Amino acid sequence: MDKLIEVRNLKKYFITGKTFFNKGEYVRAVDDISFYIKRKEILGLVGESGCGKTTCGKVILRIQEPTAGSIFFNGKDITSLKRREMIKLKEKMMIIYQDPFGSLDPRMSIGAAIAEPMEVHATLPKNERKDRVIELMRKVGLSEEQINLYPHEFSGGQRQRIGIARALATNPEFLVADESVSALDVSIQAQIINLLKDLQEEFGLSLLFIAHDLSVIKHISDRVAVMYLGKIVEMGSKIELFNNPKHPYTRALLSAIPVPDPKYRKKGEILMGDVPSPIDPPAGCRFHTRCSHVMAICREKAPELIDSENSHYVACHLI
Ligand code: SF4
Repeated sequence: MDKLIEVRNLKKYFITGKTFFNKGEYVRAVDDISFYIKRKEILGLVGESGCGKTTCGKVILRIQEPTAGSIFFNGKDITSLKRREMIKLKEKMMIIYQDPFGSLDPRMSIGAAIAEPMEVHATLPKNERKDRVIELMRKVGLSEEQINLYPHEFSGGQRQRIGIARALATNPEFLVADESVSALDVSIQAQIINLLKDLQEEFGLSLLFIAHDLSVIKHISDRVAVMYLGKIVEMGSKIELFNNPKHPYTRALLSAIPVPDPKYRKKGEILMGDVPSPIDPPAGCRFHTRCSHVMAICREKAPELIDSENSHYVACHLI
């Protein structure tokens, strides 16, 4: 199997509330997860806010350092690469943020903003950069005439196109798209998702597509991983996961997808209560405080993520 990205037993803990008198507490944002992304594959990572999916994306790119575990890119362990080696590698691993406005310098024209990664990583001679910027602008649906405009002169959807062009500037092999359509209107979301899918196919990219909306994940992903309180609870092909969801949390997320017909009532799990704190996650299965199938063992023993069939992984004592 041709894996481009692999993470093994990845953990990311943050310390919170640390003072001179207090050692603080750990927030277990990502807590021992393992998965891979094949070359030219889109893995959708889904879960409620605060489940650790954004942290997971940032740790893979080493924007944040892992607490434990290993990250492999193209078969090479990059977990402890030095900063200089990592800068060279980062041209192959880019991120598209949720809020492109926040990640664009308001004083920089969009032409300069798209060219900036080429400058930082010295991927192209200076005299070839403008042509590449224009080519990328066209690819993402912007026109050459807009090259000297500033971020505030664009709509939200156009700014996301700029973010995508910037992420593609260094010819990456792997992209993390972090909630990159969540802030957009539904009609614009569809355009940006289709654009990302087209570009992924054209450039043969691998993508970690992070979103809290399962309907968006369904549209773009090849495989899907469902995250809850820092853990992956279910993972499999899109078809398996949507046609045959096995984990009660996944089933509850699927039941919550709105349907256009107001007379149609969905049957299924209902998600009750809020996500517990990642500072003090529930013992045993982390979902047991909200699960309608909870058993005694669920409160004591954490279920392992096991292959139930056809590479459909589930972490639940029911399976
Ligand atoms: Fe529910 Fe138990 Fe399965 Fe957790 S392990 S999802 S509590 S049935």
